[in-house]
Amino acid sequence: MSSQRGNSSRSRPQKHQNKAAFKNNLYDTSTKTKVINSIQVGDVCKRCKDIIEWKIKYKKYKPLSQPKKCVKCGNKSVKRAYNIMCLDCAHKLGVCAKCGQSKEIIQSPPSEQDQIKLDEEMKELLKSLPERKRRTFIRFMNKSSENPVKEDAEKQRKDLVDKLKTLKVNEEDDFDDFSDDDDTNLTSDSEENE
Ligand SMILES: [Zn+2]
Ligand SMILES: [Zn+2]
Repeated sequence: MSSQRGNSSRSRPQKHQNKAAFKNNLYDTSTKTKVINSIQVGDVCKRCKDIIEWKIKYKKYKPLSQPKKCVKCGNKSVKRAYNIMCLDCAHKLGVCAKCGQSKEIIQSPPSEQDQIKLDEEMKELLKSLPERKRRTFIRFMNKSSENPVKEDAEKQRKDLVDKLKTLKVNEEDDFDDFSDDDDTNLTSDSEENE
């Protein structure tokens, strides 16, 4: 039977066939597993990304309990498990944060927290802008989202925030903004545009 050693040619089919693909959270619904499953692997090369994703999938992934020492700057700034250097150094050198080689790096998408933070920042800035600038910005925003060039989302958002900041800095030059009669309607206006 199956306990027979060295018998590679068996006539009967496999007794237990996997009906569904392996799911690592089938019996484990802990927060830790959820957090690990939500990790977006990035800032590493394709090969390292595959390795880390494999670890996540098969529950071999062990998050760092505390930041590790970066091999480049020596600070305890490595926050991602299996990475050898901090993201600052990896970005600066343009290398994979795990193997340290300068291969093609797969950027990590902005984390949910970063996205929320940027959205909040944008909202605050938008609120502080006079109507006309707000329109300029919304036009700019719509234009950049139509942009067929697929920039990474994080950069796009940062560009938007930067643009907002420049608009805000130039605010003082525009005295005619004070005469904007419909300025009071604008808050609701712009919220619809979000
Ligand atoms: Zn570093
Ligand atoms: Zn790598």
